[in-house]
Amino acid sequence: MRILVLLALAGALAAADYNLLIRNARVIDGSGNPWFRADVGVRDGKIAAIGNLATASADRTVDAKERVAAPGFIDVHTHVEGGIDRIPEAGNYVTDGVTTVVTGNCGGSEAKLGDWFAALEKQGLGINLASLAGHNTVRRQVMGTANRQATAEEIARMQQLVEEAMRQGAVGFSTGLIYIPGTYSSSDEVVALAQASAKYGGVYASHMRDEGAKVLEAIEEALRVGREAGMPVELSHFKIDNRRLWGSSAKSLALVEKARREGVDVVVDQYPYDHSSTNLGITVPSWALADGDAKVKERLGDRATRARIVKEMVDRVKKLGHKDFSYATVASCRVDRTYEGKNITQINLLRRKKGLKNEAETILDLQAAGGAQMVYHSMREQDVTRILRYPNTAIGSDGGVREFGAGVPHPRSYGTNARVLAEYVRNQQAITLEDAIRRMTSLPARTFRFRDRGLLREGYAADLVLFDPARVQDKATYQKPHQYSEGFDLVVVNGVVVVEDGKVTGAHPGKVLRHRP
Ligand SMILES: [Zn+2]
Repeated sequence: MRILVLLALAGALAAADYNLLIRNARVIDGSGNPWFRADVGVRDGKIAAIGNLATASADRTVDAKERVAAPGFIDVHTHVEGGIDRIPEAGNYVTDGVTTVVTGNCGGSEAKLGDWFAALEKQGLGINLASLAGHNTVRRQVMGTANRQATAEEIARMQQLVEEAMRQGAVGFSTGLIYIPGTYSSSDEVVALAQASAKYGGVYASHMRDEGAKVLEAIEEALRVGREAGMPVELSHFKIDNRRLWGSSAKSLALVEKARREGVDVVVDQYPYDHSSTNLGITVPSWALADGDAKVKERLGDRATRARIVKEMVDRVKKLGHKDFSYATVASCRVDRTYEGKNITQINLLRRKKGLKNEAETILDLQAAGGAQMVYHSMREQDVTRILRYPNTAIGSDGGVREFGAGVPHPRSYGTNARVLAEYVRNQQAITLEDAIRRMTSLPARTFRFRDRGLLREGYAADLVLFDPARVQDKATYQKPHQYSEGFDLVVVNGVVVVEDGKVTGAHPGKVLRHRP
């Protein structure tokens, strides 16, 4: 007995002050305040101390040598469903400094959130994860892809599903109002479902009904949801997605700012690129894709209906300010992998066809065969920079967990944060380093109410990144996206190292962050 006590005492005496000690760092704490010089001590998954820890002991000490220590990045806008189940380490995210993702965006989430969360916890996660409840997901369960207004009874059933997701820990409600079937919904329906989320303290994350010619109306609709449901609004991947309207982000941002002055808690997020990415189906009129596969096939097989669809597609392209579909490049396509990386104009030529009409026909053939994921060159740099400079713009990749080497996906899944720091902080000096970090950390944490993350503060979760601002660099390009960002030398999630010298360690310290009202 006495020996055991002595052993225990000896153990206690030998225990180090910290599990991990980062010395000589320039601390950027995530608040937007200027850096300060300090040591950071991590113990039991938390930030235990920040200050002069010269006499402290630690299981492991890292000399930062004046590199920046910042909170791990919180990516407010992701689509990791599917990917993270197969690749829980999320290599493309951790190597870009991301330690937490918010998924379930644009109206699409896992249908049974509680079960999914439990499965992820069982399997283990390299990063922390929170999810929204998706509008399209609940509408599909209740109404399939019916192109009509919901009945009162259907609204009630959808509300129940949203409430269920909220009780299981969803952080809010998301819409994707350009996608099937959410695009068939009225504003009243969106408000009613958002209210079900607001009851539990949710945030409304909106992929708006339009990001081009009608963007101002679309912003008004999202603001109305915020006002009538009484909840904060996050406008997703804020952009001007129409060549003819390039430059008008000044107007759209002014509308957001006016709403804030009037008392709507609204912020926006953005990925720092001038190409967007989504499915091929958005180039096809939404009425043509309603009511299930058999109906879609029937429409495409009917000569007169098909001609009408093609005409609408051609008109839409012209309205967007393009002369053909060369702005649309295939990112991944199960039907034919050789199409990946080629644009629709090139694919059309490969099929020995020419002209805008035939390009639309090619799209319909691809769509009928199973569709494709696309990259669209649709924005202008001037708008991207102006939106980035807006103080209430958070950074979000709009990407997913990527299988290294598969397809030619948008580079944003790999390089979003490094690109902000390399291109917009270091090269263009559009925003300061401290402000960029704030948009990746405390601004997202504030919006989604992660109360112990997003800042380097004592007592907060030990999610952190160590990097040299002169060296950090995104490597992923549109042509060669499968390249990890460089410069995030050490990435820590809940006190555990997930990236060491730029390499993924494979550790699984991530947690599911369930919202508690
Ligand atoms: Zn979206």
